[in-house]
Amino acid sequence: MIDTTKHKGLRKKLVDELISQGIESEKVLDAIISIPRHFFLESSFEHLAYQNNAFPIGNDQTISQPYTVAFQTELLNLKKGDRVLEIGTGSGYQASILFKMGAKVYTIERHAPLLRKAKLLLQKLNIRAEMRFGDGYEGWPEEAPFDKIIVTCGAPHIPEALKKQLRVGGIMVIPVGEIIQKMKCVIKRDEDKFEIIDFGDFRFVPMLRNKAK
Ligand code: SAH
Repeated sequence: MIDTTKHKGLRKKLVDELISQGIESEKVLDAIISIPRHFFLESSFEHLAYQNNAFPIGNDQTISQPYTVAFQTELLNLKKGDRVLEIGTGSGYQASILFKMGAKVYTIERHAPLLRKAKLLLQKLNIRAEMRFGDGYEGWPEEAPFDKIIVTCGAPHIPEALKKQLRVGGIMVIPVGEIIQKMKCVIKRDEDKFEIIDFGDFRFVPMLRNKAK
């Protein structure tokens, strides 16, 4: 795995594009600059890694579009040391961005082969994240509460377990909807009080239930 000057230049161009699309957080943009996205793609897609698109990563899943990663991460308003739960590890790219920003990352994936691959890659890159095979609808109760939760698959509704596992004052960013999803920022104001702010339309692979395999 080599990160060349050319790759770095392409990342800089990608970041300029994200800025023109309205991404403002320096911390998010710095993380995107420092994580080589081409490491997370299959070799046949590697040359496209710095296009602002989603790409297949195997098992019918995709690595999210860089704009989507940046948009969701910006909404999380991360502070160093935040405990962050990610649902949908996929390639491990989003988890790596969170780690780079100083988060303590917990991530769950329901496709064992994807999880295995992501684990190996993150180890190689010295990126630390707690990674687990399981059903994101259940969250990770043993490690709750989380300061932030990010869901990277399209959820039909906001899972109760995730609402419970968010600490009061915490933020969950979750795309909700069947075919097209509305990005929602869920702020936990009190044990049973949630403020929900709607953002634009996005398209994710579905959050599937109880089919961990
Ligand atoms: N964050 C990823 C992109 C993930 S695509 C990245 O940076 O590459 C969405 C992922 O969510 C897929 O890998 C899919 O298998 C996973 N997923 C779908 N439903 C899930 C569930 N119920 N629990 C955990 N993971 C789920």
